[in-house]
Order: sequence, then structure tokens, then C-alpha cells
Amino acid sequence: MIMDDCIFCKIANKKIPSELLYEDDLVAAFNDINPITPVHVLIVPKKHIESVADMEEADEILAGRLIMVAKKMAEKMGTSEGGYKLLLRVRPDGGQEVPHVHMHLLGGGKMLENIKVV
Ligand code: 5GP
Ligand code: ZN
Repeated sequence: MIMDDCIFCKIANKKIPSELLYEDDLVAAFNDINPITPVHVLIVPKKHIESVADMEEADEILAGRLIMVAKKMAEKMGTSEGGYKLLLRVRPDGGQEVPHVHMHLLGGGKMLENIKVV
């Protein structure tokens, strides 16, 4: 369930000191260490799952929880009214660098789209 060498397992399960913005039985949320927008929060499962591509049918409640917590965090961070972007990168072609599912909550201003295949 928790991988010793996974940074997001450690943060979400408070194995290292960090400032969790939110936690419940299934997920935790914390600020991205290298924010790309004024609001940049990561919402992650407490259990180790490498990517969305590795999620199973039994993770359906968890999948819903990630979105609902992102919605609530957007309200808490003051970016709900203007709007925000939720981003899930999946595996290398999706640009995923940390192999533990994480939803990015990006907000605090209007964002550009620059999505293309290279
Ligand atoms: P990815 O490219 O996998 O979608 O995004 C990984 C994100 O995790 C990046 O935005 C990066 O800044 C963030 N990140 C990587 N290591 C750490 C860490 O140790 N702590 C925190 N809070 N964020 C991290
Ligand atoms: Zn993990």
C-alpha cells in the first residue's frame, strides 16, 4: 500500500514532515514544491498507485474523491469563482514524472493552452 521509496507515499502518509493542506481516509493535498501557477496544489491517494492507467474498478470511489477534494481545495484557495484547471498526467507520454497518481489543481489566473504532440 505504501512504498518506502515513493516521495508522495511519504508526504501523504506523513512519514516526512510536510504541510498537508487537507487529508481524509483516502487522499491528501499539499502544495507543489515548484508551482507553475499562483495556486498549484497536488491531490494524491494515500495508497500507492503508479498512474491513472494502473487504477482498477475498485478505485472508482477514490477517483471521485480526487475530483471532489480538488473542487473543495479550489474553493479554499480562492480560485473557484474565476476557474481553474485539473491536470492528471499519465505515464511518460503524458509527461508524468512522479510515479504515484497526483491531480494538479492549477489556478489563480487565466491559463494558456499549449497541448500538442511533439
Ligand atoms: P508530474 O510531471 O509527474 O505530473 O508532476 C510532478 C509534480 O510533483 C511536479 O509539479 C513537481 O514540482 C512536484 N514535486 C516533485 N517532487 C515533489 C516533492 O518532493 N514535494 C512536492 N510538494 N512536490 C513535488
Ligand atoms: Zn507512492
